[in-house]
Amino acid sequence: MTRVRVGRGIEVPPPYAVDEALRAATGWAGVFGREAPLVVEVGFGNGQFLADLARTRPEADFVGIELYGKGIVKLARRLDREQIPNVRIVKGDAIRVLAERFGPQEIREVHVNFPDPWPKTRHHKRRLVGPAFPAVLHSRLAPGGDVFLATDHEGYAMQMMEVFEAHPGFVGVAGPFRFIYHVPGRTPTKYERKFGALGHTIRHLHFRRSG
Ligand code: SAH
Repeated sequence: MTRVRVGRGIEVPPPYAVDEALRAATGWAGVFGREAPLVVEVGFGNGQFLADLARTRPEADFVGIELYGKGIVKLARRLDREQIPNVRIVKGDAIRVLAERFGPQEIREVHVNFPDPWPKTRHHKRRLVGPAFPAVLHSRLAPGGDVFLATDHEGYAMQMMEVFEAHPGFVGVAGPFRFIYHVPGRTPTKYERKFGALGHTIRHLHFRRSG
């Protein structure tokens, strides 16, 4: 089968790669061939969570952003094998991709599962969910749009809470400074299963664009 290049040495079956010229000219509706709510997962890892979400919600379109080539190939194979049509994959840094490949208010929902915690203080600046993250999400999310985050790292959970609470355009859906400890019906990600099995407390956060 023909493959499309999404990064150096990374090739996936054609429907899952994004033709950026087409996207720039016609928007995501042109890429997917329809107008549908757009959902983004950042750092999808092996992509199982994203594939499951896309399968159970055929009325929405999904874009996965990931840096890790092996994960991209895995997700593309899974989508191809399971014949899931409503997902596209973009390789790159999440903040850049969100800023450059999406228009204002274009996204309905964003998921961030178990981003790298960078536990050492001197590495905290490498964390994906710092102050710049709510800012770029706010510009890309539609009013009323949702952000879902999950982590097993207590310090990072606190940082996520602080940066979203500090942004005036988001409200915590569970209440101010409230973590969620159980999400009914959720399919755990690979890391969620791994950390759950180790007995780690998993914290979920749910914010909504309020203004
Ligand atoms: N969500 C998956 C994987 C978590 S590990 C799970 O829960 O199982 C974190 C993932 O984020 C890794 O796959 C890593 O490659 C990706 N990642 C890290 N920084 C990123 C960035 N700036 N942009 C996009 N993806 C990133």
